[in-house]
Amino acid sequence: MQRIGNYVGGEIVPPVNGQWMDNVDPAVGKPYALTPASDKADVDRAVAAAEAAFPAWSATSVEERAAVLMRLGEAIDRRKDQLAMAECIDGGKPITRARDHEIPRVLSNFRYFAAAIQHNHSELYPGANNTLNMILRRPRGVVGLISPWNLPLYLLTWKIAPAIATGNTCVAKPSEVTPMTAHLFAEICREAELPAGVVNIVHGRGAEAGAALINHESIRTVSFTGGTATGRAIASAVAPGFKKLSLELGGKNPTIIFDDAPGAALQASVMAAFANTGQICLCGSRILVQQTIFESFVKSFVQEAEKLRVGDPLDSATQIGALVSHDQLQKSMRYAALAREEGGRILLGGERFRPAAERCREGFFFSPTVVVGLDSKARTCQEEIFGPIVTIAPFRDLDHAIALANDTGYGLSASVWTQNIDKAHRVAGAVDCGTVWINCWLVRDLRVPFGGTKQSGLGREGGDEALRFFTEPKNVCLRVN
Ligand code: NAD
Repeated sequence: MQRIGNYVGGEIVPPVNGQWMDNVDPAVGKPYALTPASDKADVDRAVAAAEAAFPAWSATSVEERAAVLMRLGEAIDRRKDQLAMAECIDGGKPITRARDHEIPRVLSNFRYFAAAIQHNHSELYPGANNTLNMILRRPRGVVGLISPWNLPLYLLTWKIAPAIATGNTCVAKPSEVTPMTAHLFAEICREAELPAGVVNIVHGRGAEAGAALINHESIRTVSFTGGTATGRAIASAVAPGFKKLSLELGGKNPTIIFDDAPGAALQASVMAAFANTGQICLCGSRILVQQTIFESFVKSFVQEAEKLRVGDPLDSATQIGALVSHDQLQKSMRYAALAREEGGRILLGGERFRPAAERCREGFFFSPTVVVGLDSKARTCQEEIFGPIVTIAPFRDLDHAIALANDTGYGLSASVWTQNIDKAHRVAGAVDCGTVWINCWLVRDLRVPFGGTKQSGLGREGGDEALRFFTEPKNVCLRVN
């Protein structure tokens, strides 16, 4: 079986403790590779390698760093088919999703930040008494980057690219559930002649490798994307050390559909509910529909959801693949049972799905599931399921829609569908979350700040926000006479 390696000081190496864990193909339900079960010893080595690389890397010019990032982009481009296939197998996601959305975005992450650092500028404030206040932005040192399994290389490189573009070196801990593309990325770093130690990757469980990374005394900056409970644990672990922390956490995002919504709302809300098997933090898992069109919308929604082709991720006709793990399958099964217990009516799905493809019979598939009849306070409507389960509820008017949209502990995103721009803007202003899409969903522009409010996170990534997060501003005041 293939063994995935850690990437430390420019070398792909086995874990120090010699321990490995299974890496499972979720569409098949069986292990197909071995992942390092790394611990503190590997993290210590990786941090030491990153510290050794920091003085030279942080001293490189913006042009040199941009050139290296562009080389990484070229190497990703050369390997894009291999990366898409690896992402498809590792995460159970449709090959079309990996090939057409996620891997192109990996490439864009490097191209974007290669360009961004060359267009960046510093502030200068001429002051009283002939003083000039300059704001210098320095890299923060060795940064710790932790990412989840749902968009594995997309999110990992969304952190690595701005971190190294701004002159930091890093130790990244990808999700242990989907380690394969991070392993391929290590090979890509070698191919692109990234100086040794600038990027280091340690695979392993969160409680071991992840905890060792965030608690390492040389790690003064942590960027984390993952679940809210993990984010809370990380926040309390790093707070006493006053580490700089960015948290991108869970969501329970409303899709708000008014009775004057454009026709595209139907298809878009189906995709928002079920894309990547409901495993995108931005999925619209709570649909709110104006009462006047509720019955007809629900009927059409179920008809459209029924047409979704669930099955073998390797088949390019597949729209919905497997859940990423047996744990996620069980979680969806638990929430379908809970929805029933809470009085919900399951209009579609609600059970494990067995694809026609023989090789996928034991895979972790779950039918797209539509639930109605639940109170907004029901746990099914309040908790992040991260599976193909959507609730649909009616609202009376604009104020009621806003109240229901905000009736959640999360605040990541919302999408609003109406042809009335005043109404759309009122909702956009009133929903407490980081991103609002009007008559669209999941349009991601790399320049915009990205993040959540309430339990969806702390801080923003993306664009200039990422450049700020990974640098330390220093005010130097010069008196010129
Ligand atoms: P998770 O929190 O279980 O794991 C995320 C990462 O944290 C993994 O690499 C894991 O090994 C590591 N980890 C776990 N415990 C740790 C600890 N104590 N110390 C350090 N690291 C630790 O999340 P997941 O199940 O991999 O991902 C799904 C979650 O991610 C969902 O809640 C989803 O909404 C969220 N997510 C958020 C965004 C966003 O941008 N807001 C994007 C994608 C996913």
